[in-house]
Amino acid sequence: MDSAEYERKIAARFATFDQDGNGYIDREDFSAAARAVLAEFGTTARSDRGQAVFIGAEAFWQGMAGIADVDGDQRVTREEFVTGAVKRLRDNPVRFAEIARPFLHAVLAVADETGSGSATPDAAARVLRVLGTPQELAGRVAAGLDTDGDGRISEEEILAAFAGYCGVEPPDAL
Ligand code: CA
Ligand code: CA
Repeated sequence: MDSAEYERKIAARFATFDQDGNGYIDREDFSAAARAVLAEFGTTARSDRGQAVFIGAEAFWQGMAGIADVDGDQRVTREEFVTGAVKRLRDNPVRFAEIARPFLHAVLAVADETGSGSATPDAAARVLRVLGTPQELAGRVAAGLDTDGDGRISEEEILAAFAGYCGVEPPDAL
């Protein structure tokens, strides 16, 4: 990977977290993501499943801030994201996945109409789309999440894919 490719990947990851696109990641981006998922599946914020999504989003934000908000201003800049989150994730993807787990677990519960703890590729594609994945990509990305090919997307499959997505290797020159 050359440095242009690295920069492109980092920008895409930052944009994934910066849901409102205002140039930094903060609590509002995580609550916006929670609201978008609940709206897509017609789940109210007051329901148990809705509450779990918001609680997970807050925990995810706290975890992100804990590793990346170096100056403690409750905002994660692009630079903080690269030096804090991306690096930490490469070093310890399991730990980063644990930070994301409560949110992803709760989102899965909202997206899963059967209560089985896993989602169909179609439901996963809806989640990806409302979180900003282009429509034409969401279906293909969701299908790719089903790594064991059983037609369902499990929490472990989502966490593994998410950690892999975020843990971008820098080019050798950096
Ligand atoms: Ca933002
Ligand atoms: Ca900061």
